[in-house]
Amino acid sequence: MAGATPACIFCQIAARSSTSTSLLHSDDRVVAFEDINPSALRHYLVIPVEHISTVRNLKRRAEDYSLVSHMLDVGRTLLQRDAPQSKQYRFGFHQPPFNSVNHLHLHCLALPFIPRWKHMKYLSLGPLGGFIEAEKLLDKLKPE
Ligand SMILES: [Zn+2]
Ligand SMILES: [Zn+2]
Repeated sequence: MAGATPACIFCQIAARSSTSTSLLHSDDRVVAFEDINPSALRHYLVIPVEHISTVRNLKRRAEDYSLVSHMLDVGRTLLQRDAPQSKQYRFGFHQPPFNSVNHLHLHCLALPFIPRWKHMKYLSLGPLGGFIEAEKLLDKLKPE
């Protein structure tokens, strides 16, 4: 597969060669699964099947805009199904060097954060980067 990194854990999950991860959703573009170290009431990850390292690899073009919108749609649908009692959802990406795995992944969080201090991991750090909300990223990718 073009661009796939054999050692990438998320590529293995997307290719379903991982034995322990059960997928909550899969289609030809994305798969979704539970974060192994959840930070909230519900905490899912949505990743592209194709290996894209980070948000830095995304560009202002229809293809990337449509991929990220699709990831967000899938995440929203899953949280609305599985955590309808949650009063707040958050969706976003860690920007390098704050990302843990070098395969693009959308964090989908149904709050509250558990334990509460975990919200620290999902702060926008302004010019330093940190966490970027999915809607904000979409604004940056939206073709003119
Ligand atoms: Zn990968
Ligand atoms: Zn992350």
